[in-house]
Amino acid sequence: PMTQVTTQTPAQPNYVIDEMISAKSIAARIEDLAKIIQTEFQDTNKLIVVGLLRGSFVFIADLVRELDLPVEVDFLEASSYGDGMESSREVRILKDLRGQIEGRDVLVVEDIVDTGHTLHQVIDMLNTRKPSKLKSIALLDKPTRREVDMKADWTGFVIPDEFVVGYGIDYAQRNRNLPYIGKVRFT
Ligand code: 5GP
Ligand code: MG
Ligand code: MG
Repeated sequence: PMTQVTTQTPAQPNYVIDEMISAKSIAARIEDLAKIIQTEFQDTNKLIVVGLLRGSFVFIADLVRELDLPVEVDFLEASSYGDGMESSREVRILKDLRGQIEGRDVLVVEDIVDTGHTLHQVIDMLNTRKPSKLKSIALLDKPTRREVDMKADWTGFVIPDEFVVGYGIDYAQRNRNLPYIGKVRFT
């Protein structure tokens, strides 16, 4: 499918979204990832799955429902992209976790690892809180854009350097509700 988007403001160009990863492929990959996560954390009853807002909200929802484990869910919001397409190097915590993670097993769930700054800094910060285990999973990885030596422990799909939306991921806060991952093409 292709979605035609007519923007609300003249400042923004119109664009189309071309499907890159189908909803079906995403679901199949998440089933596989969940099996790996399940094995990794099966001996713990203290897992907290931490979603990085807002882009990971659909991914985390689908992922945790494939886990047959006692699991808690918490969220963290870190700023990286604003409403545009430029990555910023400085990562700030806009919304911290509600719960403590000391002595807990933590799985950080990210939508995309791009330059790597966000995940790198979030992992560093969470490590200072002394979790018993700290792992990360990203739905998408754009390795060609990397600026720091950082990689999620598990990745859904490696993609080329394209600006993508859908399945929780936005462009100017829109398109998070698309069931598939698509790339933005300006018209
Ligand atoms: P990093 O700090 O690794 O450069 O950036 C990670 C964050 O940048 C992601 O969590 C995501 O919010 C944003 N990002 C990176 N690539 C894209 C993209 O193609 N589309 C959108 N909407 N956000 C992206
Ligand atoms: Mg993000
Ligand atoms: Mg964003």
